[in-house]
Amino acid sequence: MRQSVVLGIAFLFVMVWAAQPAASADEWKSGIIWPQPKVIDPGPVGGPPSDAIVLFDGKDLSKFVDGDKWKIVDGYAVADKTGITTKQSFGSCQLHVEWAAPEKIEGSGQGRGNSGVYLMGKYEVQILDSYENDTYYDGQAASIYKQSPPLVNACRKPGQWQTYDIIFTAPKFDDKGKVLKPAYVTVLHNGVLVQNHFEIKGGTFWHKPPEYETHPDKAPISLQFHGNPVRFRNIWIREL
Ligand code: MG
Repeated sequence: MRQSVVLGIAFLFVMVWAAQPAASADEWKSGIIWPQPKVIDPGPVGGPPSDAIVLFDGKDLSKFVDGDKWKIVDGYAVADKTGITTKQSFGSCQLHVEWAAPEKIEGSGQGRGNSGVYLMGKYEVQILDSYENDTYYDGQAASIYKQSPPLVNACRKPGQWQTYDIIFTAPKFDDKGKVLKPAYVTVLHNGVLVQNHFEIKGGTFWHKPPEYETHPDKAPISLQFHGNPVRFRNIWIREL
């Protein structure tokens, strides 16, 4: 009997305690006076957002040096003759590129659907038809060429449109050309994270190891022509 009374009182005590309002401690605030984030229109899925610079909207490649060398067909551009380079220079940025490897499979390995996005003209995010196409892993689609294979192979079939969303932090050099801060890159391939804040080791080369060479805070972006008619559409960039 006495035990059940004790249990009952204990039960009541727990019920009363549980019914108390949440702790009455004061709310913590950082005290930092943040500026209000700018309102932008994100645009349709795939963008461009309202604060982006549109580099290619399907009509012409006038924002690129040698843009007239590539063919424009039905709202997309086809790589041809030479690489093309933005007239404007960019540093840290968010870059959206849509591309498609040729539907008709020709060549193999590095010879199949090869192109590339050269950030600052020096750091290549590889474009390659990596759908059932073997090559060295740090040279397949969405690799940082000869530095970092993608975390997964998220390549669609040849002929299908694919997206790259690239977040790039430009490197910093001192007056003597010494690297103060390396470049970093994050890449989503078809919405899948494939490079996660990778520290770029320097320029990407075919014939020698990566190496930094000093350059200005901003530099043009190039799209590679590697002999294959890779298609492009919907290219836009946001400066960070
Ligand atoms: Mg390439």
